[in-house]
Amino acid sequence: MLDNFNRNINYLRISLTDLCNFRCKYCMPKDGIYKKPRSEILTFEEIYYIAHLFVENGIDKIRITGGEPLIRKGVVNFVESLGSLEKIKDLAMTTNASLLKDKAYSLKKAGLDRVNVSLDTLNPKTFKDLTGGDLKDVLDGIKAAADVGLGIKLNTVLLKGINEKEINDFLNLTYQYDIDVRFIEVMPIGPTASYAKDKFLSCDDIIENTNLRKIDNKDPSSPASLYKLEGAKGRVGFIEPISHKFCKSCNRLRLTSDGYLKACLHSDRLIDLKTPLRKGEDIRPFIEEALKIKPLKHRLEDGRSIVESMNRIGG
Ligand code: SAM
Ligand code: SF4
Repeated sequence: MLDNFNRNINYLRISLTDLCNFRCKYCMPKDGIYKKPRSEILTFEEIYYIAHLFVENGIDKIRITGGEPLIRKGVVNFVESLGSLEKIKDLAMTTNASLLKDKAYSLKKAGLDRVNVSLDTLNPKTFKDLTGGDLKDVLDGIKAAADVGLGIKLNTVLLKGINEKEINDFLNLTYQYDIDVRFIEVMPIGPTASYAKDKFLSCDDIIENTNLRKIDNKDPSSPASLYKLEGAKGRVGFIEPISHKFCKSCNRLRLTSDGYLKACLHSDRLIDLKTPLRKGEDIRPFIEEALKIKPLKHRLEDGRSIVESMNRIGG
């Protein structure tokens, strides 16, 4: 599928829920979120139908996200249904991993290829304070994923005054394990935008103070620039939506759990798929509309940030 700027759109992120068992300060609104009635949330059958249509039209990479996708009941069976779509080359999930320990084996068996795990600090106290969750659960989840052979990437959001002193600890993980550790610039999004602005730390500041060596990223649509430490098993990635936007190679669309297509993370424009789907209409024209409105680039540098919170959009 090509968008208006001839970008090949082959990647769909599907949010299964906007609910989460964590409360990361840069993601979730401080005052909690409004729980939508179940009728507003797409059923697994509806999501499967939409995903299948996308796959028939050229999407070959799907990431399941949220909120926290693992809190949704039936997630493993849903992964299995997606796993049966032969044209999908890459089926991944972004998760906080707190519930992964017990599900890693069945997810792998169901066809999941990889997990991206959010891990912003290795300090249990800082972790509790930042996320409200328990670091041990997450580490157990990561270990279980590694044990069953799921690919693992760690996503670490850079936060001034919170985890900047732990950068070397994260880098050192790549000596021990063959994993990708990816540092991500915090983005001002929705109700947590002022927290993100306050804690912003650029990837360039980090790279400057390390002896990382740049390596090729073989995936041209990947937003990460890749590096390695001499003698390390794993790699280090930097994702810089603020300092060096990667919109030119953006290949993704997002489906929210309540059935809207979002063509750009940083735009408030949504295309309703749920209403036409439930009326029995052909939803392909609405997908085409999303491709048409996908902007060339985001406007965060103009101080614009969107209204919705990240847990709703599906990061
Ligand atoms: N709950 C899952 C998790 O945390 O991995 C999946 C959903 S979460 C919204 C997806 C990703 O978005 C996480 O890696 C998280 O760190 C990232 N994220 C959330 N808010 C962000 C922000 N304001 N800036 C940058 N990344 C953010
Ligand atoms: Fe939940 Fe993920 Fe947002 Fe943290 S980043 S609050 S784990 S959705």
